[in-house]
Amino acid sequence: MKIKSADFVMSNSDVAKCPNEPLPEYAFIGRSNVGKSSLINMLTERKSLAKISGRPGKTQLINHFKINGNWFLVDLPGYGYARVSKKNKKTFQKYITDYFVKRTQLVSAFVLVDIRHTPQKIDLEFMEYLGENRIPFSIVFTKADKLNAKTIEKNVAVYLKELLLGAWEEAPRHFITSSSKNIGRDELLSYIDLINQQ
Ligand code: GDP
Repeated sequence: MKIKSADFVMSNSDVAKCPNEPLPEYAFIGRSNVGKSSLINMLTERKSLAKISGRPGKTQLINHFKINGNWFLVDLPGYGYARVSKKNKKTFQKYITDYFVKRTQLVSAFVLVDIRHTPQKIDLEFMEYLGENRIPFSIVFTKADKLNAKTIEKNVAVYLKELLLGAWEEAPRHFITSSSKNIGRDELLSYIDLINQQ
């Protein structure tokens, strides 16, 4: 996919106020520092697109970028647990669960994880949450330039195996990326293109 335009549209914390356009949208999410801004900038070939929403005074929650005038890339900053309920059941922040449950335009989510790390509980629980709510998602492994090919393969295998030990019958689709080495860009954009054409 050639990126002809990538425009910041809006930033807000209320899913009801997200753009009222019936365009397919793809949400990018992960713990802070995972490399999400860098990935969005790599995908869109814009040096600082993902930082626009970080301007002072802007709400840094749900950020919509319109790509090529026909789909939205949504930047959802890092998730965390909202509270611990009486039953000790953790939940994610309301703006995130509201977004995923209510946003009918959402086609698929991309959950970013740092390829160097062992599976983290919060990421696994978030993927479980998506699965329980029937929200399609892929895993995007970031910072692949930091490891050699063999270690990448090993870490991915460990990750997918851990997921399969949980409630998953089938491993989710995954992408291996590096924003500093421009790895994985074509694969990710071709995948989005393919879905958009269906
Ligand atoms: P965010 O908080 O998830 O938006 O993460 P950033 O995109 O701001 O990146 C966090 C840190 O990781 C920064 O120091 C980036 O330079 C670094 N980083 C992000 N992507 C990559 C990558 O693909 N390779 C390497 N080596 N570093 C990266």
